[in-house]
Amino acid sequence: MIPEEKINEIRDRSDIVDVIGSVLDLKKSGMNFKALCPFHDEKTPSFVVSPDKQIYHCFGCGKGGNVFSFLMDYEGVSFIEAVRKLAAKLGIDIDLYLNKGKSSKRLDPFYSALNYTGKYYKRILLKTESGKNAVEYLKRRGIDNSLMEDFNLGFAPPGWDNLYKRAAKDGLSKDILLKLKLVMRSKGGYRDYFRNRIIYPIYTLTNRTVGFAGRVLDKSEPKYLNTSESPVYSKGKILYGLNKSKKFIRKSKTALLVEGYMDLLMLWKAGFRNVCAVCGTSFTKEQARLLARYAKRVYIINDGDRAGMLAAVRSADQLLIEGLTIKIVVLPQGEDPDSYVNKNGAGAFRSLLNSADDYFVYLSKISRKGKEQRARKSRIIKHLIDTVSHVRDRVDRNLYLQEISDIFDIPIDDLRAGFKPGKRRKKKRETKDSFDDKVAQNQKLLFSIGSKRECFAKRILDNLLEDDLKREIFRKYYRCFQKAVKDGVELNSAEFFGKIKDPELSDLAAQIAFIQPPPGPAEKLLDDTLLWLKRRALRREMVMMKERLDELHSISGAGNSAEEIEIAEAYRKIARELGKLGLQGG
Ligand SMILES: [Zn+2]
Repeated sequence: MIPEEKINEIRDRSDIVDVIGSVLDLKKSGMNFKALCPFHDEKTPSFVVSPDKQIYHCFGCGKGGNVFSFLMDYEGVSFIEAVRKLAAKLGIDIDLYLNKGKSSKRLDPFYSALNYTGKYYKRILLKTESGKNAVEYLKRRGIDNSLMEDFNLGFAPPGWDNLYKRAAKDGLSKDILLKLKLVMRSKGGYRDYFRNRIIYPIYTLTNRTVGFAGRVLDKSEPKYLNTSESPVYSKGKILYGLNKSKKFIRKSKTALLVEGYMDLLMLWKAGFRNVCAVCGTSFTKEQARLLARYAKRVYIINDGDRAGMLAAVRSADQLLIEGLTIKIVVLPQGEDPDSYVNKNGAGAFRSLLNSADDYFVYLSKISRKGKEQRARKSRIIKHLIDTVSHVRDRVDRNLYLQEISDIFDIPIDDLRAGFKPGKRRKKKRETKDSFDDKVAQNQKLLFSIGSKRECFAKRILDNLLEDDLKREIFRKYYRCFQKAVKDGVELNSAEFFGKIKDPELSDLAAQIAFIQPPPGPAEKLLDDTLLWLKRRALRREMVMMKERLDELHSISGAGNSAEEIEIAEAYRKIARELGKLGLQGG
């Protein structure tokens, strides 16, 4: 673990204006700086950076936090990676702490074994006699040396246990190799998992090797083998090539999503750098979220067969839920991106992209093909409505329904009638949309006034209990607030933000920090807001009690069970409290 003082030092010595200013075009605006927000599409800047507080906040999409959270969001890295990056800039060495860390220490042997293996295979491919065949093969497929070098391709030589023997000689742990499934037990000995295969290393966003895919050189089966899931590798959470393409995707806000390793390499070679590949799994929710960090628009380019089409629909659905714009690129039957670019060149591929249909249009075309069109159309629309019901953002959801209505020529009210809000939506929405209802607004206002003066903060804590807050995110904020007051940490300061690791909480905290309370005496406003919230909380409690009483009555008729008496008593108490509500302390 990195000691907290070290993290604080790194944060305090980094200037958020420099860090953000190095990637965004910041313009001075009053005491703050403004820029176009990198996290949502906008034409006028609502992304604000405060040099004073060393935090940022977007009034458009609600993202916010300190210098670490910015790097985490912008570069898509972990907290530790963000700390490491800034530390490196300042010339502070933190590796010393990281290697002592418990979790990283546990995983270190896995990473180093994978790193070792990747280098071993690469050397075999490029530097040895037994790699010659494989190099020839790759060249025939259009992969030149620089591409092999860029993507660190390798070759697992034929033979039984080349890797195993070499690694044993170099002192690598057999257990780790077994756990990574790079080596397997066999007839009292050990053998390599990959034999006579081209090796594609798989990387995390921060360029650590976490696994490999191995492809045969001939027609034998299986065509691809993948290393299995391990403590460091989870297939559904990684997109192949994204470590290299993320900066291009972010810049163009557009991603090309393909199915295979070879597809990716050939597109890369043809000059399409904003590309990533699913590789060996069906597209997952996690992958969709990962891509949504960088892209607003995704072109799904799958094989031109039925399996490819089904996979494309699945990917499209996941991406739709994340609110992205989706284009479906249809390749001629029997082609994949690799073969298509090879035969027709980059220009032809680009025009294929330009003529790609929006996802809904693509589906409506499918619905008009073949027999039983009505049944097919109905199935497709139901499928779409179900998918759209999972879309998190309400505005996006309505826009999608409107589009479906236009494209399939169905009145929007009919679509709404068949629309059952998704289960997931409710939970997710709780934090986003409803930030803006009146209770939430007053809670935010309250905490923002509270952070102006210590006596205000104490007044809040004396009068408002964590239980008075309904939403978990506000409760979390309350606990942070409470702890800061107790520890004498200045509210809204960089130190305060340094304690917040939860990105959602960081968004809320930044929002609160940037609130400008309306003019007038702050103390009166504080008391009014507190009273308003306190009343709300008490009333809410009374409503809940009333509901419980009604429920008991409907089960057994009005009676005098212990629970009823207890509730009735508590109800009266709250009613009295509400009647003479005043504030404690000063
Ligand atoms: Zn924004």
